[in-house]
Amino acid sequence: MTRGVRWYYFCNPMAETQNSTNASECPYCKSGGAFEMAQCTDHMVSGERFRLYRCPDCSLVYTVLNNSGVEPGTYDKVQYRITLGDKPRGLLRRLYHVARSIMLRRKLKLITRITGRKGGRLLNYGAAIGYFSSIMEDHNWKVVSIERSHEERQFSLEMFHHRMMDEDAMNKLRKGTFDVATLWHVLGNRKNITELIDRLYDLLTPNGILFVAAPNSASLDAAHYADEWAGWDVPRHIWHMNPSLIQKVAKEHGFVMMHRERLPFDVFYICILSERNLHHIFPITRGLVRGLYYHLKSIGHVDRSSSLVYVFRKIERPRKRRRSASASAKTE
Ligand SMILES: [Zn+2]
Repeated sequence: MTRGVRWYYFCNPMAETQNSTNASECPYCKSGGAFEMAQCTDHMVSGERFRLYRCPDCSLVYTVLNNSGVEPGTYDKVQYRITLGDKPRGLLRRLYHVARSIMLRRKLKLITRITGRKGGRLLNYGAAIGYFSSIMEDHNWKVVSIERSHEERQFSLEMFHHRMMDEDAMNKLRKGTFDVATLWHVLGNRKNITELIDRLYDLLTPNGILFVAAPNSASLDAAHYADEWAGWDVPRHIWHMNPSLIQKVAKEHGFVMMHRERLPFDVFYICILSERNLHHIFPITRGLVRGLYYHLKSIGHVDRSSSLVYVFRKIERPRKRRRSASASAKTE
């Protein structure tokens, strides 16, 4: 294969990441009319700038990866997440720990309420440092956690005595054995999300439930902060979707939406980080005020909130699947 970008995946739409040589072709609907909507800086890791393209036909926003040959995983925030797992220091981390603690309980209650179960088998894909897996295990759930970062798997083992699996091990799991699968803020980070959704479909029981949390590209705070909205989180987030597109993608892969709701603390955290990105003074105070404003403004307008959690139920797969993208090996 010649120098440049290799196209690994061709069986599914959204299997391919875009690069600067073919940026205007939407990887989902194949429209050629996508346009550059923003240039965002990776404030967390590299300081590099990345372009966002938006498809006017399907509304997908996608990060154009630089043609450096570097995989997005290189930019992962592993150390950042591990640091957040430690004892909190500083006001922002203390606030984060309080919010995380509340949200863990809230997720547990949501899963209990939606499934009507007080235990079962749960697959937590992209489990990070393991707080969610741990609380579910403490409440009678048999949890299998998938995490690609060795450091985070190690953290989970030492902190919670919870052993996670790497992504390769996922292929060895038995089909139809999980009552629940969870994707907490990881769907947009994976190169091949349709392959991931199909894999989770196979692993769930016939009436299995999939929980997906994701930032909302159509949120009020995204519109306000534009290029500096922390929810873009380039280049780690490759795919940025609004609620209707997420539902559409899920439906095409055999899931029907049962429920969706706001993640109430995300807007505050995202606004604080966005204020920092803008180098405003008093970013925490400003972010909390701005977050409160958008929190109140999105009451009754859940599809304009900063992040949502979607609940999907597995149904029979639609017979007629979207026509596959053509097999090709594009190079620079
Ligand atoms: Zn499109």
